[in-house]
Amino acid sequence: MEDQSLKSTCHCGAITAILPYRPKEINECQCTICRRYAAAWAYYKVNEVKIDMKGGAKLSRYIWGDKEISFNFCENCGCVCYWWPMEEKTSDGDAAEFGVNTRNMDPMEIFHVNRKIGNDWLLQPLKDKTKSHEQDRANY
Ligand SMILES: [Zn+2]
Repeated sequence: MEDQSLKSTCHCGAITAILPYRPKEINECQCTICRRYAAAWAYYKVNEVKIDMKGGAKLSRYIWGDKEISFNFCENCGCVCYWWPMEEKTSDGDAAEFGVNTRNMDPMEIFHVNRKIGNDWLLQPLKDKTKSHEQDRANY
């Protein structure tokens, strides 16, 4: 069978996420953090990915708001690699989702994948209002 795996690799090549198949959709989330990163996410289950770290590779994390996910980027080149859930299982015991940054993929490999501008989180309140961003547009 043809290997359909895709790679999302940071600019310096230190950190690679290996995904099992082409995503059905790419989401350019417009929340206060993703729009700043200009990230374009594809979503998979945490158990579907292999994260390959070269020797000396280091991830830094940014965690804010409800602190349910971390944004992980390469300490060397600064590329945003993926966001990752703090809880890798859902309440049903299934593998949780994570988001990989398709900006680090070969554009030709995802040329025909649908893209959407994700406004879902613009009005979605955080659980903890006191941790919300000053530009959060949600109603609390
Ligand atoms: Zn890097």
